[in-house]
Amino acid sequence: MELLTKKSFKYRIYPTKSQVSTLENQFSMCRHLYNWNLAERIDAYEEDETTISYNQQQNKLPALKEERPWFKSIHSQVLQDVLRRLDKGYKSFFRRVKNGETPGFPKFKKRGQWNSITYPQYQKRPTNSCIAVSKVGNIEIVYHRDIPEEANIKTLTITKEAGKWFACFSVESPVATELKQDQLPPVGIDMGLIDFFYASDGSQVSIPKYLRKKEKQLQRLQRRLSKAKKGTKRYRKILRALQKCHYRVKCQRNDFLHKKANELLNKSNTIFHEKLVVQNMIRRPKPKQDEETGKYLSNGASTKAGLNKSIADAGWSRFFEFLRYKAERLCKQVVSVPPHYTSQVCSSCGVIVKKSLSTRTHRCECGFVANRDHNAAINILRIGMDTLQAST
Ligand SMILES: [Zn+2]
Repeated sequence: MELLTKKSFKYRIYPTKSQVSTLENQFSMCRHLYNWNLAERIDAYEEDETTISYNQQQNKLPALKEERPWFKSIHSQVLQDVLRRLDKGYKSFFRRVKNGETPGFPKFKKRGQWNSITYPQYQKRPTNSCIAVSKVGNIEIVYHRDIPEEANIKTLTITKEAGKWFACFSVESPVATELKQDQLPPVGIDMGLIDFFYASDGSQVSIPKYLRKKEKQLQRLQRRLSKAKKGTKRYRKILRALQKCHYRVKCQRNDFLHKKANELLNKSNTIFHEKLVVQNMIRRPKPKQDEETGKYLSNGASTKAGLNKSIADAGWSRFFEFLRYKAERLCKQVVSVPPHYTSQVCSSCGVIVKKSLSTRTHRCECGFVANRDHNAAINILRIGMDTLQAST
């Protein structure tokens, strides 16, 4: 039997003005449909304690379309999905009551409380930056990352969140089971400011330059926005460009982190990294005062601000988050080890070789020479292996 895993892929979409009004109309009709059917279920129960099923309600859809012809402008499967959501809400309510919980009863949806429609049998892939949405039209999509070839698209949900529109595909893809059986070597990684990380096997990953480039673009747009007059056409135009840019940076960064996490997990079953307190490293350093003169000294704030930017860019904590959940899915492990002289200790002989932050090469009297971060990564691997062995 083939194992399947469910994932979802979310993209920003840009419906035209008329598509927006079509979608909003559909939301409103779906909300009414939901409320009518909820009322029907409540009435039936109060009158003679009967339960109305999903099928019963679905069978009434054709009659509804005769009575209210404007409902023909919505795809029938979208309407069925509304009834299915209600059915699901009902079933989970009664299941939880049975379990002795006190869940809230399904509520009537107020105006503005319905913000999505789902096509439960959607299978098309976006083409030419467009998705074909039945009864709405071709909508512009920012297809920033491919849905893998082997994945089967199951559903499409269009949502409006905080004024922005999104398309969310849920897909099913086969689980790569052969990976688990391989005996892959453990690896230690040292997160860095110059390289994104250095691994104990000698490989390294740099922070992509395109992220920095985009940052500059963001700053430019920010400046232009601050000069534009609020409420004007120009202001709205810059604002939209800014939001678009923000979104792209986020996507590109996540894409980078996903890729690098996958690459690591493809070559190892156990990954060790140093426990990092990223929050502290991002904080701005306090100004230093000269004890004799009382003058403020350079505290390297600007240098550090530059470094901080790199940390923020690189998104270490997000990276670890991705690594963790991906590892869990693959039955692999990601272990954090306490930071302990990892950059100072010689990974070959164990002697402490003191070096400042600017010394990029580890040179030991024992003859071992390596990139500073590579040496640290080997130490992290060793500490990690020691901790694992001690705990078993
Ligand atoms: Zn040494």
